Amino acid sequence: MDDREALLTLAHQLGDSSKALAISAEGNVSARLGEDTMSIKASGCSMASMTVQDLVDVRISTLTTLLARTTTDEETQDDHTRSIYEASKMKSTARTPSVEAILHATLYEATEATVIAHTHPTAVNALGCSQQSQLLVEGMLFPDAIVLMGSRQLLIPYTDPGIPLARVVRAGVQEFFDSEGTAPRVIYLANHGLFVLATSPSEALQITEMANKNATILLGTLAAGGPNFLSPDHVRRIDSRPDELYRRGKLATARRSSYG
Ligand SMILES: [Zn+2]
Repeated sequence: MDDREALLTLAHQLGDSSKALAISAEGNVSARLGEDTMSIKASGCSMASMTVQDLVDVRISTLTTLLARTTTDEETQDDHTRSIYEASKMKSTARTPSVEAILHATLYEATEATVIAHTHPTAVNALGCSQQSQLLVEGMLFPDAIVLMGSRQLLIPYTDPGIPLARVVRAGVQEFFDSEGTAPRVIYLANHGLFVLATSPSEALQITEMANKNATILLGTLAAGGPNFLSPDHVRRIDSRPDELYRRGKLATARRSSYG
């Protein structure tokens, strides 16, 4: 299966309104095509109904030049951003890359991810828009969440979209690397949504669905006296148990074959 077709299937699955992950033009997906190139959803289209024409191929390093820009004049900044987005396109097309392309590019530059999915899941946002958003990263509730989402996730406070958000996320990912020795698979954006870093479209879907299920359960625990997080020892054990590693190995096999 072609990378773009697999990405399109992922977009349709994430945009399925019955999953409550994204509606209308919410969210976006991208896939790394090469070391410095990615294919990303165009601005303004719906994930549920997008076609291959709604994918724009862009150069990652052209987009990330925006992060070095220091001007604070918003109008100049907007003009410059528009021209860089235009210049990043690898083929001439009337479509414009999603406004969040700068964030996808930053994450590809900072990590080994090959597929990135951004959604606004209802349960994740119910917590992420609450006074208790911190609970999303306070602990792990059940083993399968650890298998898919890792033992820790990253929470980014609300930040202006575009270049400011990309800068804050880049710094957050760097801190995460420094403390965990690995990149996060799940990044919660408070008052906004969810970014999932994966190595295949099927893994991106699984992690996104698990993050929303985890948030649904967390909300449920708040109605039943509060969360009873697993102890750090239990989390560590699940993170390193042979059978869990076997399951991760199986997921890795699934991701390789889905790209075959
Ligand atoms: Zn968004």
